[in-house]
Order: sequence, then C-alpha cells, then structure tokens
Amino acid sequence: MTREQPGGLSPATVVVSAGRPDRHQGGALNLPVVLSSTNVSQGVPGAGELLYGRMDTEAWHPFEDALGRLEGSAHPALVFGSGMAAIAGAFSLIPDGGRLVLPRHAYQVTIGYARDLAERHGVDVALVDIDDTDSVVAALPGTSMLWVESPTNPMLEVADLPVLVEAAHAAGALVGVDNTFATPLVQRPFEHGADIVVHSVTKYLAGHSDVVLGAALADDDALHARLHAYRTLHGSIAGPFEVWLALRGLRTLALRVERAQANAAELARRLSEHPAVAEVRHPSLRGDPGHERATRLMEGYGSIIGLRPRGGAAAADLVVKALELWVPATSLGGVESSLERRRRFATESLTVPEDLLRLSVGIEDVEDLWGDLDRALRSLAGS
Ligand SMILES: *Cc1c(COP(=O)(O)O)cnc(C)c1O
Repeated sequence: MTREQPGGLSPATVVVSAGRPDRHQGGALNLPVVLSSTNVSQGVPGAGELLYGRMDTEAWHPFEDALGRLEGSAHPALVFGSGMAAIAGAFSLIPDGGRLVLPRHAYQVTIGYARDLAERHGVDVALVDIDDTDSVVAALPGTSMLWVESPTNPMLEVADLPVLVEAAHAAGALVGVDNTFATPLVQRPFEHGADIVVHSVTKYLAGHSDVVLGAALADDDALHARLHAYRTLHGSIAGPFEVWLALRGLRTLALRVERAQANAAELARRLSEHPAVAEVRHPSLRGDPGHERATRLMEGYGSIIGLRPRGGAAAADLVVKALELWVPATSLGGVESSLERRRRFATESLTVPEDLLRLSVGIEDVEDLWGDLDRALRSLAGS
C-alpha cells in the first residue's frame, strides 16, 4: 500500500480525501445524500448536463470519482445496483454467438450468468483453470472476452494477469477482471492492461455488510460509453443512500484491508500447523500454489482463507456450528469475520471440495479470532 498513484497521493490517502465537497468557510466536510430524480433543465441539453436520475446523478459522483482514482482509470467508475449488475454490464460487451473464457472457480453466480448467455445468446462458454496459464492461452483463439477473477472465489487461485492480458489481446479478446477479492489497494488490473474492472462494492469497498452495490470501470472512452449506455438502458442503477454509505465505508478501506490481511496471514500460518486441519489455502503461505504470483503481482495476500478440516463435509459443518464469534453467513469483506461451507450451495462448482470452508477474515483482535477457531477445531476431536 506504499505505491504512489500517478497523481502523487498514496491510495491510503485517496480513500480518505477523494470525493469531498469544495472547501469554503463553514462548509460541510461530507456531501449530503442527494435525493432528486430529476434536474432543472430546459432547451437542448448540453454534453454531460445532468438531466434525469437514471442517466446520471451527482449522488453517484463522489464515490465514482474516488474508485476511478483508486483503480487508476482514465474515467470515473460507474456504479451499478449490485456486483452482478456490473458484471451483466461487462458481459453485454460479448456479442451474441461470441466466446467467453472464464475461470471454473469464478463466483458461482457469474458462472450461472455465463450459462444463461450460452443458452439465450449462443455464447460459447469455456471454463478454464485460471492457475494454468498454458491451458487458458490455449482456450483463447476466437474469444470475445477473457474474464479473470484473481484470487478466485472460493479456491484462491492467482492468475498470471500480465501474461493472460497480453495473450488475450493478441487473440483479439477484451479482458475483464473482477477485482472484488483484491480491492484496488492490493491489485490494479488496469496497470496490467485489463480493459474492464468490476467490483462487488457490497464486499470490501463498502465493508460493513450493510449495502448491496456494484461498480464497473473502463479505461477506453468507447467501452466506458457502452457501459454507461447499458446502465441507462437497463436501469441497473444504484440508490443514492447506498452510494453514500459505500463512500463512507471506503474512508477506512486502507486500514481495514491492512488489518484484515495481517489477521488472515497470521491465522493461515497457525491453521497450517493445527492437528485438526487437512489443508489451508492462503497465498501468504510459502507452499501455497498462488504464493509466487501473489508476491509478484499483488500488494498483499488478501483476507480470504480456504480451510479444509479433517473429517470431511460433516466435520466442516460442525466447525461452523461450534463457532461463537465467527458469523456463519455468505458474503465476505465486512469488518466482521464470517465463514461458510461453499458446497452447501447446490450451484457451487463441483470441483470445489465438499469440505472447503471459505473464511472471510475481519478486523477483530486476532487472538479472539484464533481462540474461537482453535476451540471449534479441537471440538472435532471430541465429537
Ligand atoms: C459477491 C461477489 C459478486 C457479486 O456481487 P453482488 O454485489 O452480490 O451482486 C461478484 N464477484 C465476486 C468475486 C463476489 O464475491
């Protein structure tokens, strides 16, 4: 988190200072929640003029500007009603009958949406192991869009982003990156040449598990305009209060990410030595398959851990049940630590192990988190 942005300020400063009102004597430090469906306007509207709340509203701008700066994009972000709405916007760039290559361990709803495109729009969908660069490159000829999640949800595979972007562009494909797990503080896909970046703002950016929101970004003028047009046509817009809350959450992003990553690395290390644990996945661990790439491409290792307790899915369910501090819940990226067994969803990829627990590590005291986990894991031996 020490790298300077092109504009000079560190991301840890940008999250605090971006999107503030102009300063004047007696002025408020924060922007109001702007509640207005329309704007005063007559005659032929000028370029960029605010007209109507589905097209554009000043309620979105502070957050959109801040996220655009954090991702190092030439344009502000575009907020959407959810992460999936933003992904639908990105996928709208794939022509009917085109080809979409995406990780077999992408977010399961993203894969579900790809299947829908295959059925209704004749899109040829190829699921790849994003960890295996050669197999991804081999799948690229004829591709309209390469979709990357890195680290993947929930298997934490780390993609070799610069190599994949270059190969995809050589094949004439656009590259979209779901940067939800890393956040722009840990990974900035535009620096590696990605065309589209999306976020489930619901997760780390908003950070308090009280908002469902998404965002999409494009560096290229034409792509940005197409995403904006998609949002307006489909009406997949966000409410002013959600966006205000997301900006409020963003203020502490750097602190939250720093603490959650430190907690996650420490817990992963201790879990890897625990007698009740069969396998731990976290890119911070030296032996982890994603360690080398994460060290090279990311500024940290994220705060999601994959944990397989000894004793299979039944044991994993018992661990979830025995925990008192960790919250059993789906979603991730909140201040609170939470976990779930992913295969409890019938729709989760069958190559995700039945017993895999996905831990979203929060910002609590690491000893309290460890005490609860250790006790729950030890209870397995007694059961
Ligand atoms: C949650 C999530 C999404 C979907 O975002 P919503 O805000 O729930 O629509 C997309 N990608 C990843 C990696 C996610 O974790």
